[in-house]
Amino acid sequence: MTDAVAYLDHNATSPVKPAVRDAVLAALDLAGNPSSVHRRGRLARRAVDQARRQVAALVGTTSDRVVFTSGATEANHLALSNAAGRRRLVSAIEHDSVLAAAGEARRIPVDDQGLLQLAALDEMLRHGGPALVSVMLANNETGVIQPLVEVAAMVRRHGAWLHCDAAQAPGRIAIDMALLDVNLLTLSAHKMGGPQGVGALVLGRDIDVAAMLRGGGQESGRRAGTENVPGVAGFGVAAELAVDALSRACLVAARRDDLERRLRHVLPSVAVFGAAAPRLPNTCCLGLVGIRAETQVIALDLAGVAVSAGAACSSGKVRRSAVLTAMGVDPALADGAIRISLGETTEAWEIDRFITAWTGLHGRGAGGQQTRARVQ
Ligand code: PMP
Repeated sequence: MTDAVAYLDHNATSPVKPAVRDAVLAALDLAGNPSSVHRRGRLARRAVDQARRQVAALVGTTSDRVVFTSGATEANHLALSNAAGRRRLVSAIEHDSVLAAAGEARRIPVDDQGLLQLAALDEMLRHGGPALVSVMLANNETGVIQPLVEVAAMVRRHGAWLHCDAAQAPGRIAIDMALLDVNLLTLSAHKMGGPQGVGALVLGRDIDVAAMLRGGGQESGRRAGTENVPGVAGFGVAAELAVDALSRACLVAARRDDLERRLRHVLPSVAVFGAAAPRLPNTCCLGLVGIRAETQVIALDLAGVAVSAGAACSSGKVRRSAVLTAMGVDPALADGAIRISLGETTEAWEIDRFITAWTGLHGRGAGGQQTRARVQ
């Protein structure tokens, strides 16, 4: 085995792209505060302004609508802290940061493919006062894409507001603020080959937010604190590259589909969660009864393959996936679920190494009797 790792964890963090790295390094050397009036300050301001335009272009809006944050977690908190007395309704499969920010919010159920139950949302909106609804664009564990256009139309009919956590979408599917008709949209740079620790909340035409972090007047008074100039500059370039990547998303999907086909051939009882729903081109959440997910992740790591167990992209501690539980997946199956997430740079050998290691693991474990053929 070479030192190279088969990195199949792009939904946790997609490695920084070379042009992003260059932009971050160049911005580190600017050494001015964007709020300063002198030349150094103005150069830093220019870098932030340019990134703001690039991020706005990613989602089809104007730069005055972009609020830079420390990532999607903060953006989600900023969005949900601005409910203005509205009750909050959140999908049952939201990222922990949305669930934590939403507090006692009611959960909108999903079906067995992980798709929002629109009838249930309609019913919830019918009874009770004005609401702020939060539905993600694509799920980080399964890649399942929610019917946001239908959700938005329903939310509008009821005079509610809509927040959408789109952290996993850039570079994988197109995002258009006007088409989606959302009031608030969350982005994170490190899911699209940008640096970690920077993201944005994008505001719709008809909404503004009150700052959660107060002090300086940065971000038009919506988020105080000196801007993360290198991070923001890298985010801008990553956003531009994410638009460009869309034309190649079908190639990533072809690789992912080929992976699933080969696995099904070798291990016919493997479950691919959300396979009947529209999914991101790069994501595959697999389950097989027998070996706990954390054991698989460690064994795969030893074999030079990086994947995630469930949603464990934050703390490293593994608990049963709330997403799969909400989808009604059998607990024994959910306990063995792992997520494989590809990137544009994923090569054939990485997929081959994963298939060899994973089928070998199950060949030795409880799934051994299921093995039907050699890995192809
Ligand atoms: N929302 C979703 C859907 C995510 O996948 C993640 C990262 N796992 C987050 C929010 C949090 O993003 P960040 O790391 O930028 O805070």
